[in-house]
Amino acid sequence: MNIHEYQAKELLRAAGAPVADGRVVLRAEDAKTAAGQIDGPVWVVKAQIHAGGRGKGSFKESDAGEKGGVRITKSVEEAEMEARRMLGRTLVTKQTGAPGKQVNRVYIEDGADIARELYLALLVDRQTSRVAFVCSQEGGMDIEEVAHATPDRILTLTIDPATGYQPFHGRRIAYALGLEGAQVKQCVALMGKLFDLFLSKDMEMLEINPLIVTKAGNLHCLDAKMGFDNNALYRHADIAALADETEVDPKELAAQKFDLNYIALDGDIGCMVNGAGLAMATMDIIKLYGAEPANFLDVGGGASKEKVTEAFKIITSDPNVKGILVNIFGGIMRCDIIAEGIIAAVKEVGLNVPLVVRLEGTNVELGKQIIRDSGLNVIPADDLSDAAEKIVKAVRG
Ligand code: ADP
Ligand code: MG
Repeated sequence: MNIHEYQAKELLRAAGAPVADGRVVLRAEDAKTAAGQIDGPVWVVKAQIHAGGRGKGSFKESDAGEKGGVRITKSVEEAEMEARRMLGRTLVTKQTGAPGKQVNRVYIEDGADIARELYLALLVDRQTSRVAFVCSQEGGMDIEEVAHATPDRILTLTIDPATGYQPFHGRRIAYALGLEGAQVKQCVALMGKLFDLFLSKDMEMLEINPLIVTKAGNLHCLDAKMGFDNNALYRHADIAALADETEVDPKELAAQKFDLNYIALDGDIGCMVNGAGLAMATMDIIKLYGAEPANFLDVGGGASKEKVTEAFKIITSDPNVKGILVNIFGGIMRCDIIAEGIIAAVKEVGLNVPLVVRLEGTNVELGKQIIRDSGLNVIPADDLSDAAEKIVKAVRG
């Protein structure tokens, strides 16, 4: 689960990390009052969306020369004007992809005097199975370019769970970041706080880009991105409460409610499969036959008829879906339950695209019979390749 920058900064502030004063604003008419509570003389208005690259992003239907999702202003009136110009519009950044994301909240923050912009992140390094710090002197808006062109300018430091974070880790990061004097001490303390926060909140990722050195010589977290392990959310009610449903794909949201493993993708073949491995194989074979899957969906082993119905409804609600492939190998899952779920869903929402069904395993004959008796226009398939070939043919002609 991801959260907004302003929420991440509240967590940082509570942990004693240095962040600027700021206020979140949902309605333009509140912007002036919010800005008035911040010292100034510079107010930065920042679009809050679950995606980075806002500074270099651009709004849809923007005037020539209009700035992106981070705007520096010199008065509370100007801050209000920029908030008004951003709220409700769609911001497109490298991370949102072409559709962009609607800005429903802006964060008005005290402007910082920046001397240097550095990069810092904590993440779970899959290769070492450890938490790692990643840092670079080349922070700011071009870190992806740095990682690509000059990866040697990025230091990765993994932390042994037996020792945990130690001051020497912080000193190594400080030297790698080119910090001096009192900044080294600040860095050692800050890295310790970030590490503790990362572990205690079961984060998957914590990125401060940029971590800045101010003109006065102090370290400061100027941007903050946090991602949390969904499987650990049950023990962090405070974090779960920060979820912003407007940032989540509505189909994924519906899937969550019914405990379905669903991930929306870009293709046009919707698939319903049981078992994550078979679901992956189904996506692969769709690609092999020249099409792209519209989703990943594992209905799970013990799915009920209701769950299958909901899954089918989620697939058909995707306007990109031009055909549906149901691929079930019934072990624990019974083919007749799948058949009944599909029929119930089609009765409710109709079926306007070709549907290929491949059933195998427990109660397969009964399942096939139920589908035949329903009079539904279903294309039956014998095995996985046959199914993929048929659905791609049905969609592409
Ligand atoms: P993003 O990473 O989404 O582009 P950032 O929060 O990193 O958004 O902001 C982009 C750039 O805007 C920063 O690299 C920094 O130069 C500038 N910036 C952001 N917040 C402030 C602030 N409070 N004061 C001054 N400059 C800022
Ligand atoms: Mg940033």
